[in-house]
Amino acid sequence: MKLTAKIVGIFLLGIVLLTSLFGYLTAQSEFEQYKRAQEETAASLGNEVRETLIVAWKDQGHQGAIKLVRDFATRHQQMTIRWVPTDGDASPETDLPPQQELAVATTKTMATIITHDAEGEDQYMIYYPVDVENARAGYVEFNVPLEEAEEYARLTTYRTALIIAAMSIFGLVIIFFGVRMVGQRLDKLVAKTKRISAGDFSSPVQVAGNDEIAQLGAALNEMSETLQTQQQELDEAATARLSAMEQLRHIDRVKTVGRLASGIAHELGTPLNVVSGRAGLIASHRLSAEEVTESALVIKSEADRMAEIIRQLLGFARRRPPQRTTVDLRELIASAINLLQPMAHQCDVELVAVDGPSLSTAVDPAQIQQVVTNLIVNAIHASSGGTVRVALESQMAAPPGGAISPTEQYYCISVEDQGTGISEEAMPHLFEPFFTTKDVGEGTGLGLSVSYGIVEDHNGWIDVQSQLGEGSRFTIYLPQQVA
Ligand code: ADP
Repeated sequence: MKLTAKIVGIFLLGIVLLTSLFGYLTAQSEFEQYKRAQEETAASLGNEVRETLIVAWKDQGHQGAIKLVRDFATRHQQMTIRWVPTDGDASPETDLPPQQELAVATTKTMATIITHDAEGEDQYMIYYPVDVENARAGYVEFNVPLEEAEEYARLTTYRTALIIAAMSIFGLVIIFFGVRMVGQRLDKLVAKTKRISAGDFSSPVQVAGNDEIAQLGAALNEMSETLQTQQQELDEAATARLSAMEQLRHIDRVKTVGRLASGIAHELGTPLNVVSGRAGLIASHRLSAEEVTESALVIKSEADRMAEIIRQLLGFARRRPPQRTTVDLRELIASAINLLQPMAHQCDVELVAVDGPSLSTAVDPAQIQQVVTNLIVNAIHASSGGTVRVALESQMAAPPGGAISPTEQYYCISVEDQGTGISEEAMPHLFEPFFTTKDVGEGTGLGLSVSYGIVEDHNGWIDVQSQLGEGSRFTIYLPQQVA
């Protein structure tokens, strides 16, 4: 049930109960008053007849008293009056109340008894005692008609019922208008609040009037507009942040491509020399038909190799929207190593993939390849000779700052070098944007910060272990995810 109907219903129920109680108490009190008034009348009539009654009783005993009271009754017909002797046998009438109930009566407080007549109607009897020489001679019995009082009580009950019915109708009218004026308007406010919490700030709530509910509606609309503005600002800020991040990532990729380019240009030198030599031989017409075919096949194979290297480089450099797919991380590492092998050669570094399992998870392959490439480039740069090892394994781990003991299975890509290591001063700043220890023009300080952002976007993290002068190990932790 609606709040308005509930409140009015409870209010109405209270009023109905109180009115019924009031009606009942009024009827009771009026009945009592009626009885008291009748008692007073009986007392005054008793007082009036008492002296002559004593004389009659003394003269003629009960018969005298009966006769006198009968005469007296004919003059006072508002109630039935008769003489009741203390000795039951002396009275021709029967059905007298027990004498001990009457014995307590005095001329001030008379005995009153309610009995039922043959038809079952209530009879109100008042007994006025008559004492002669300190002995009870008998009673004057007043039989008070109760119809009038009962009729009055009936009238009171009827009026009360009428008032209750009128109030119920009035209550229903209040409920009807209350639901319209309060309930329906509150419903609108509730609906608007639900829309706001669901992120829908459109269509302001329309609540007519100038009362508190209308004011609440206006306040709700104002709040909704403010929230909408703030939401737009947040969205814009988030979009701007995303786009800035995307730009930084792209800059980092372009920088890496630049670094790779010199190694790759060098790498292309050998196949180009082979192609040139073989093409010269074919052009000299000194080769047999089989030798021409063989040279052409060598040219094709070298051209394919060059095309593959260029394709990988372009693939790495290409800007594309982030997109997750299920990838075999071992293949991803192999591809990065392939791309970096020329650079490693140039720097006299041995770049190897440690034999490991083939593990698949949902990632953005281009982004994760960018991270692995950054770590390998840094490892090569930090090394002079030596070996850079890239390994893939699955292990239990807990995110930094999270649970102390490992809680989940993660896929870990580690890049380990035997290079310079990282100083204690540099360690806390490694992942800060633009932090670099390299010379101007050599390092941008973007690689690690961009890498960290990418791994964080994949719900993972990067861990560093390093010993100055002995080497470093960077480990990427990626959760197992499905696309
Ligand atoms: P950049 O390589 O352009 O300097 P990065 O963010 O990739 O930017 O690296 C920041 C710094 O972290 C590097 O300048 C270097 O001092 C340090 N660093 C990163 N990787 C290694 C590593 N494998 N060995 C030693 N130092 C490293």
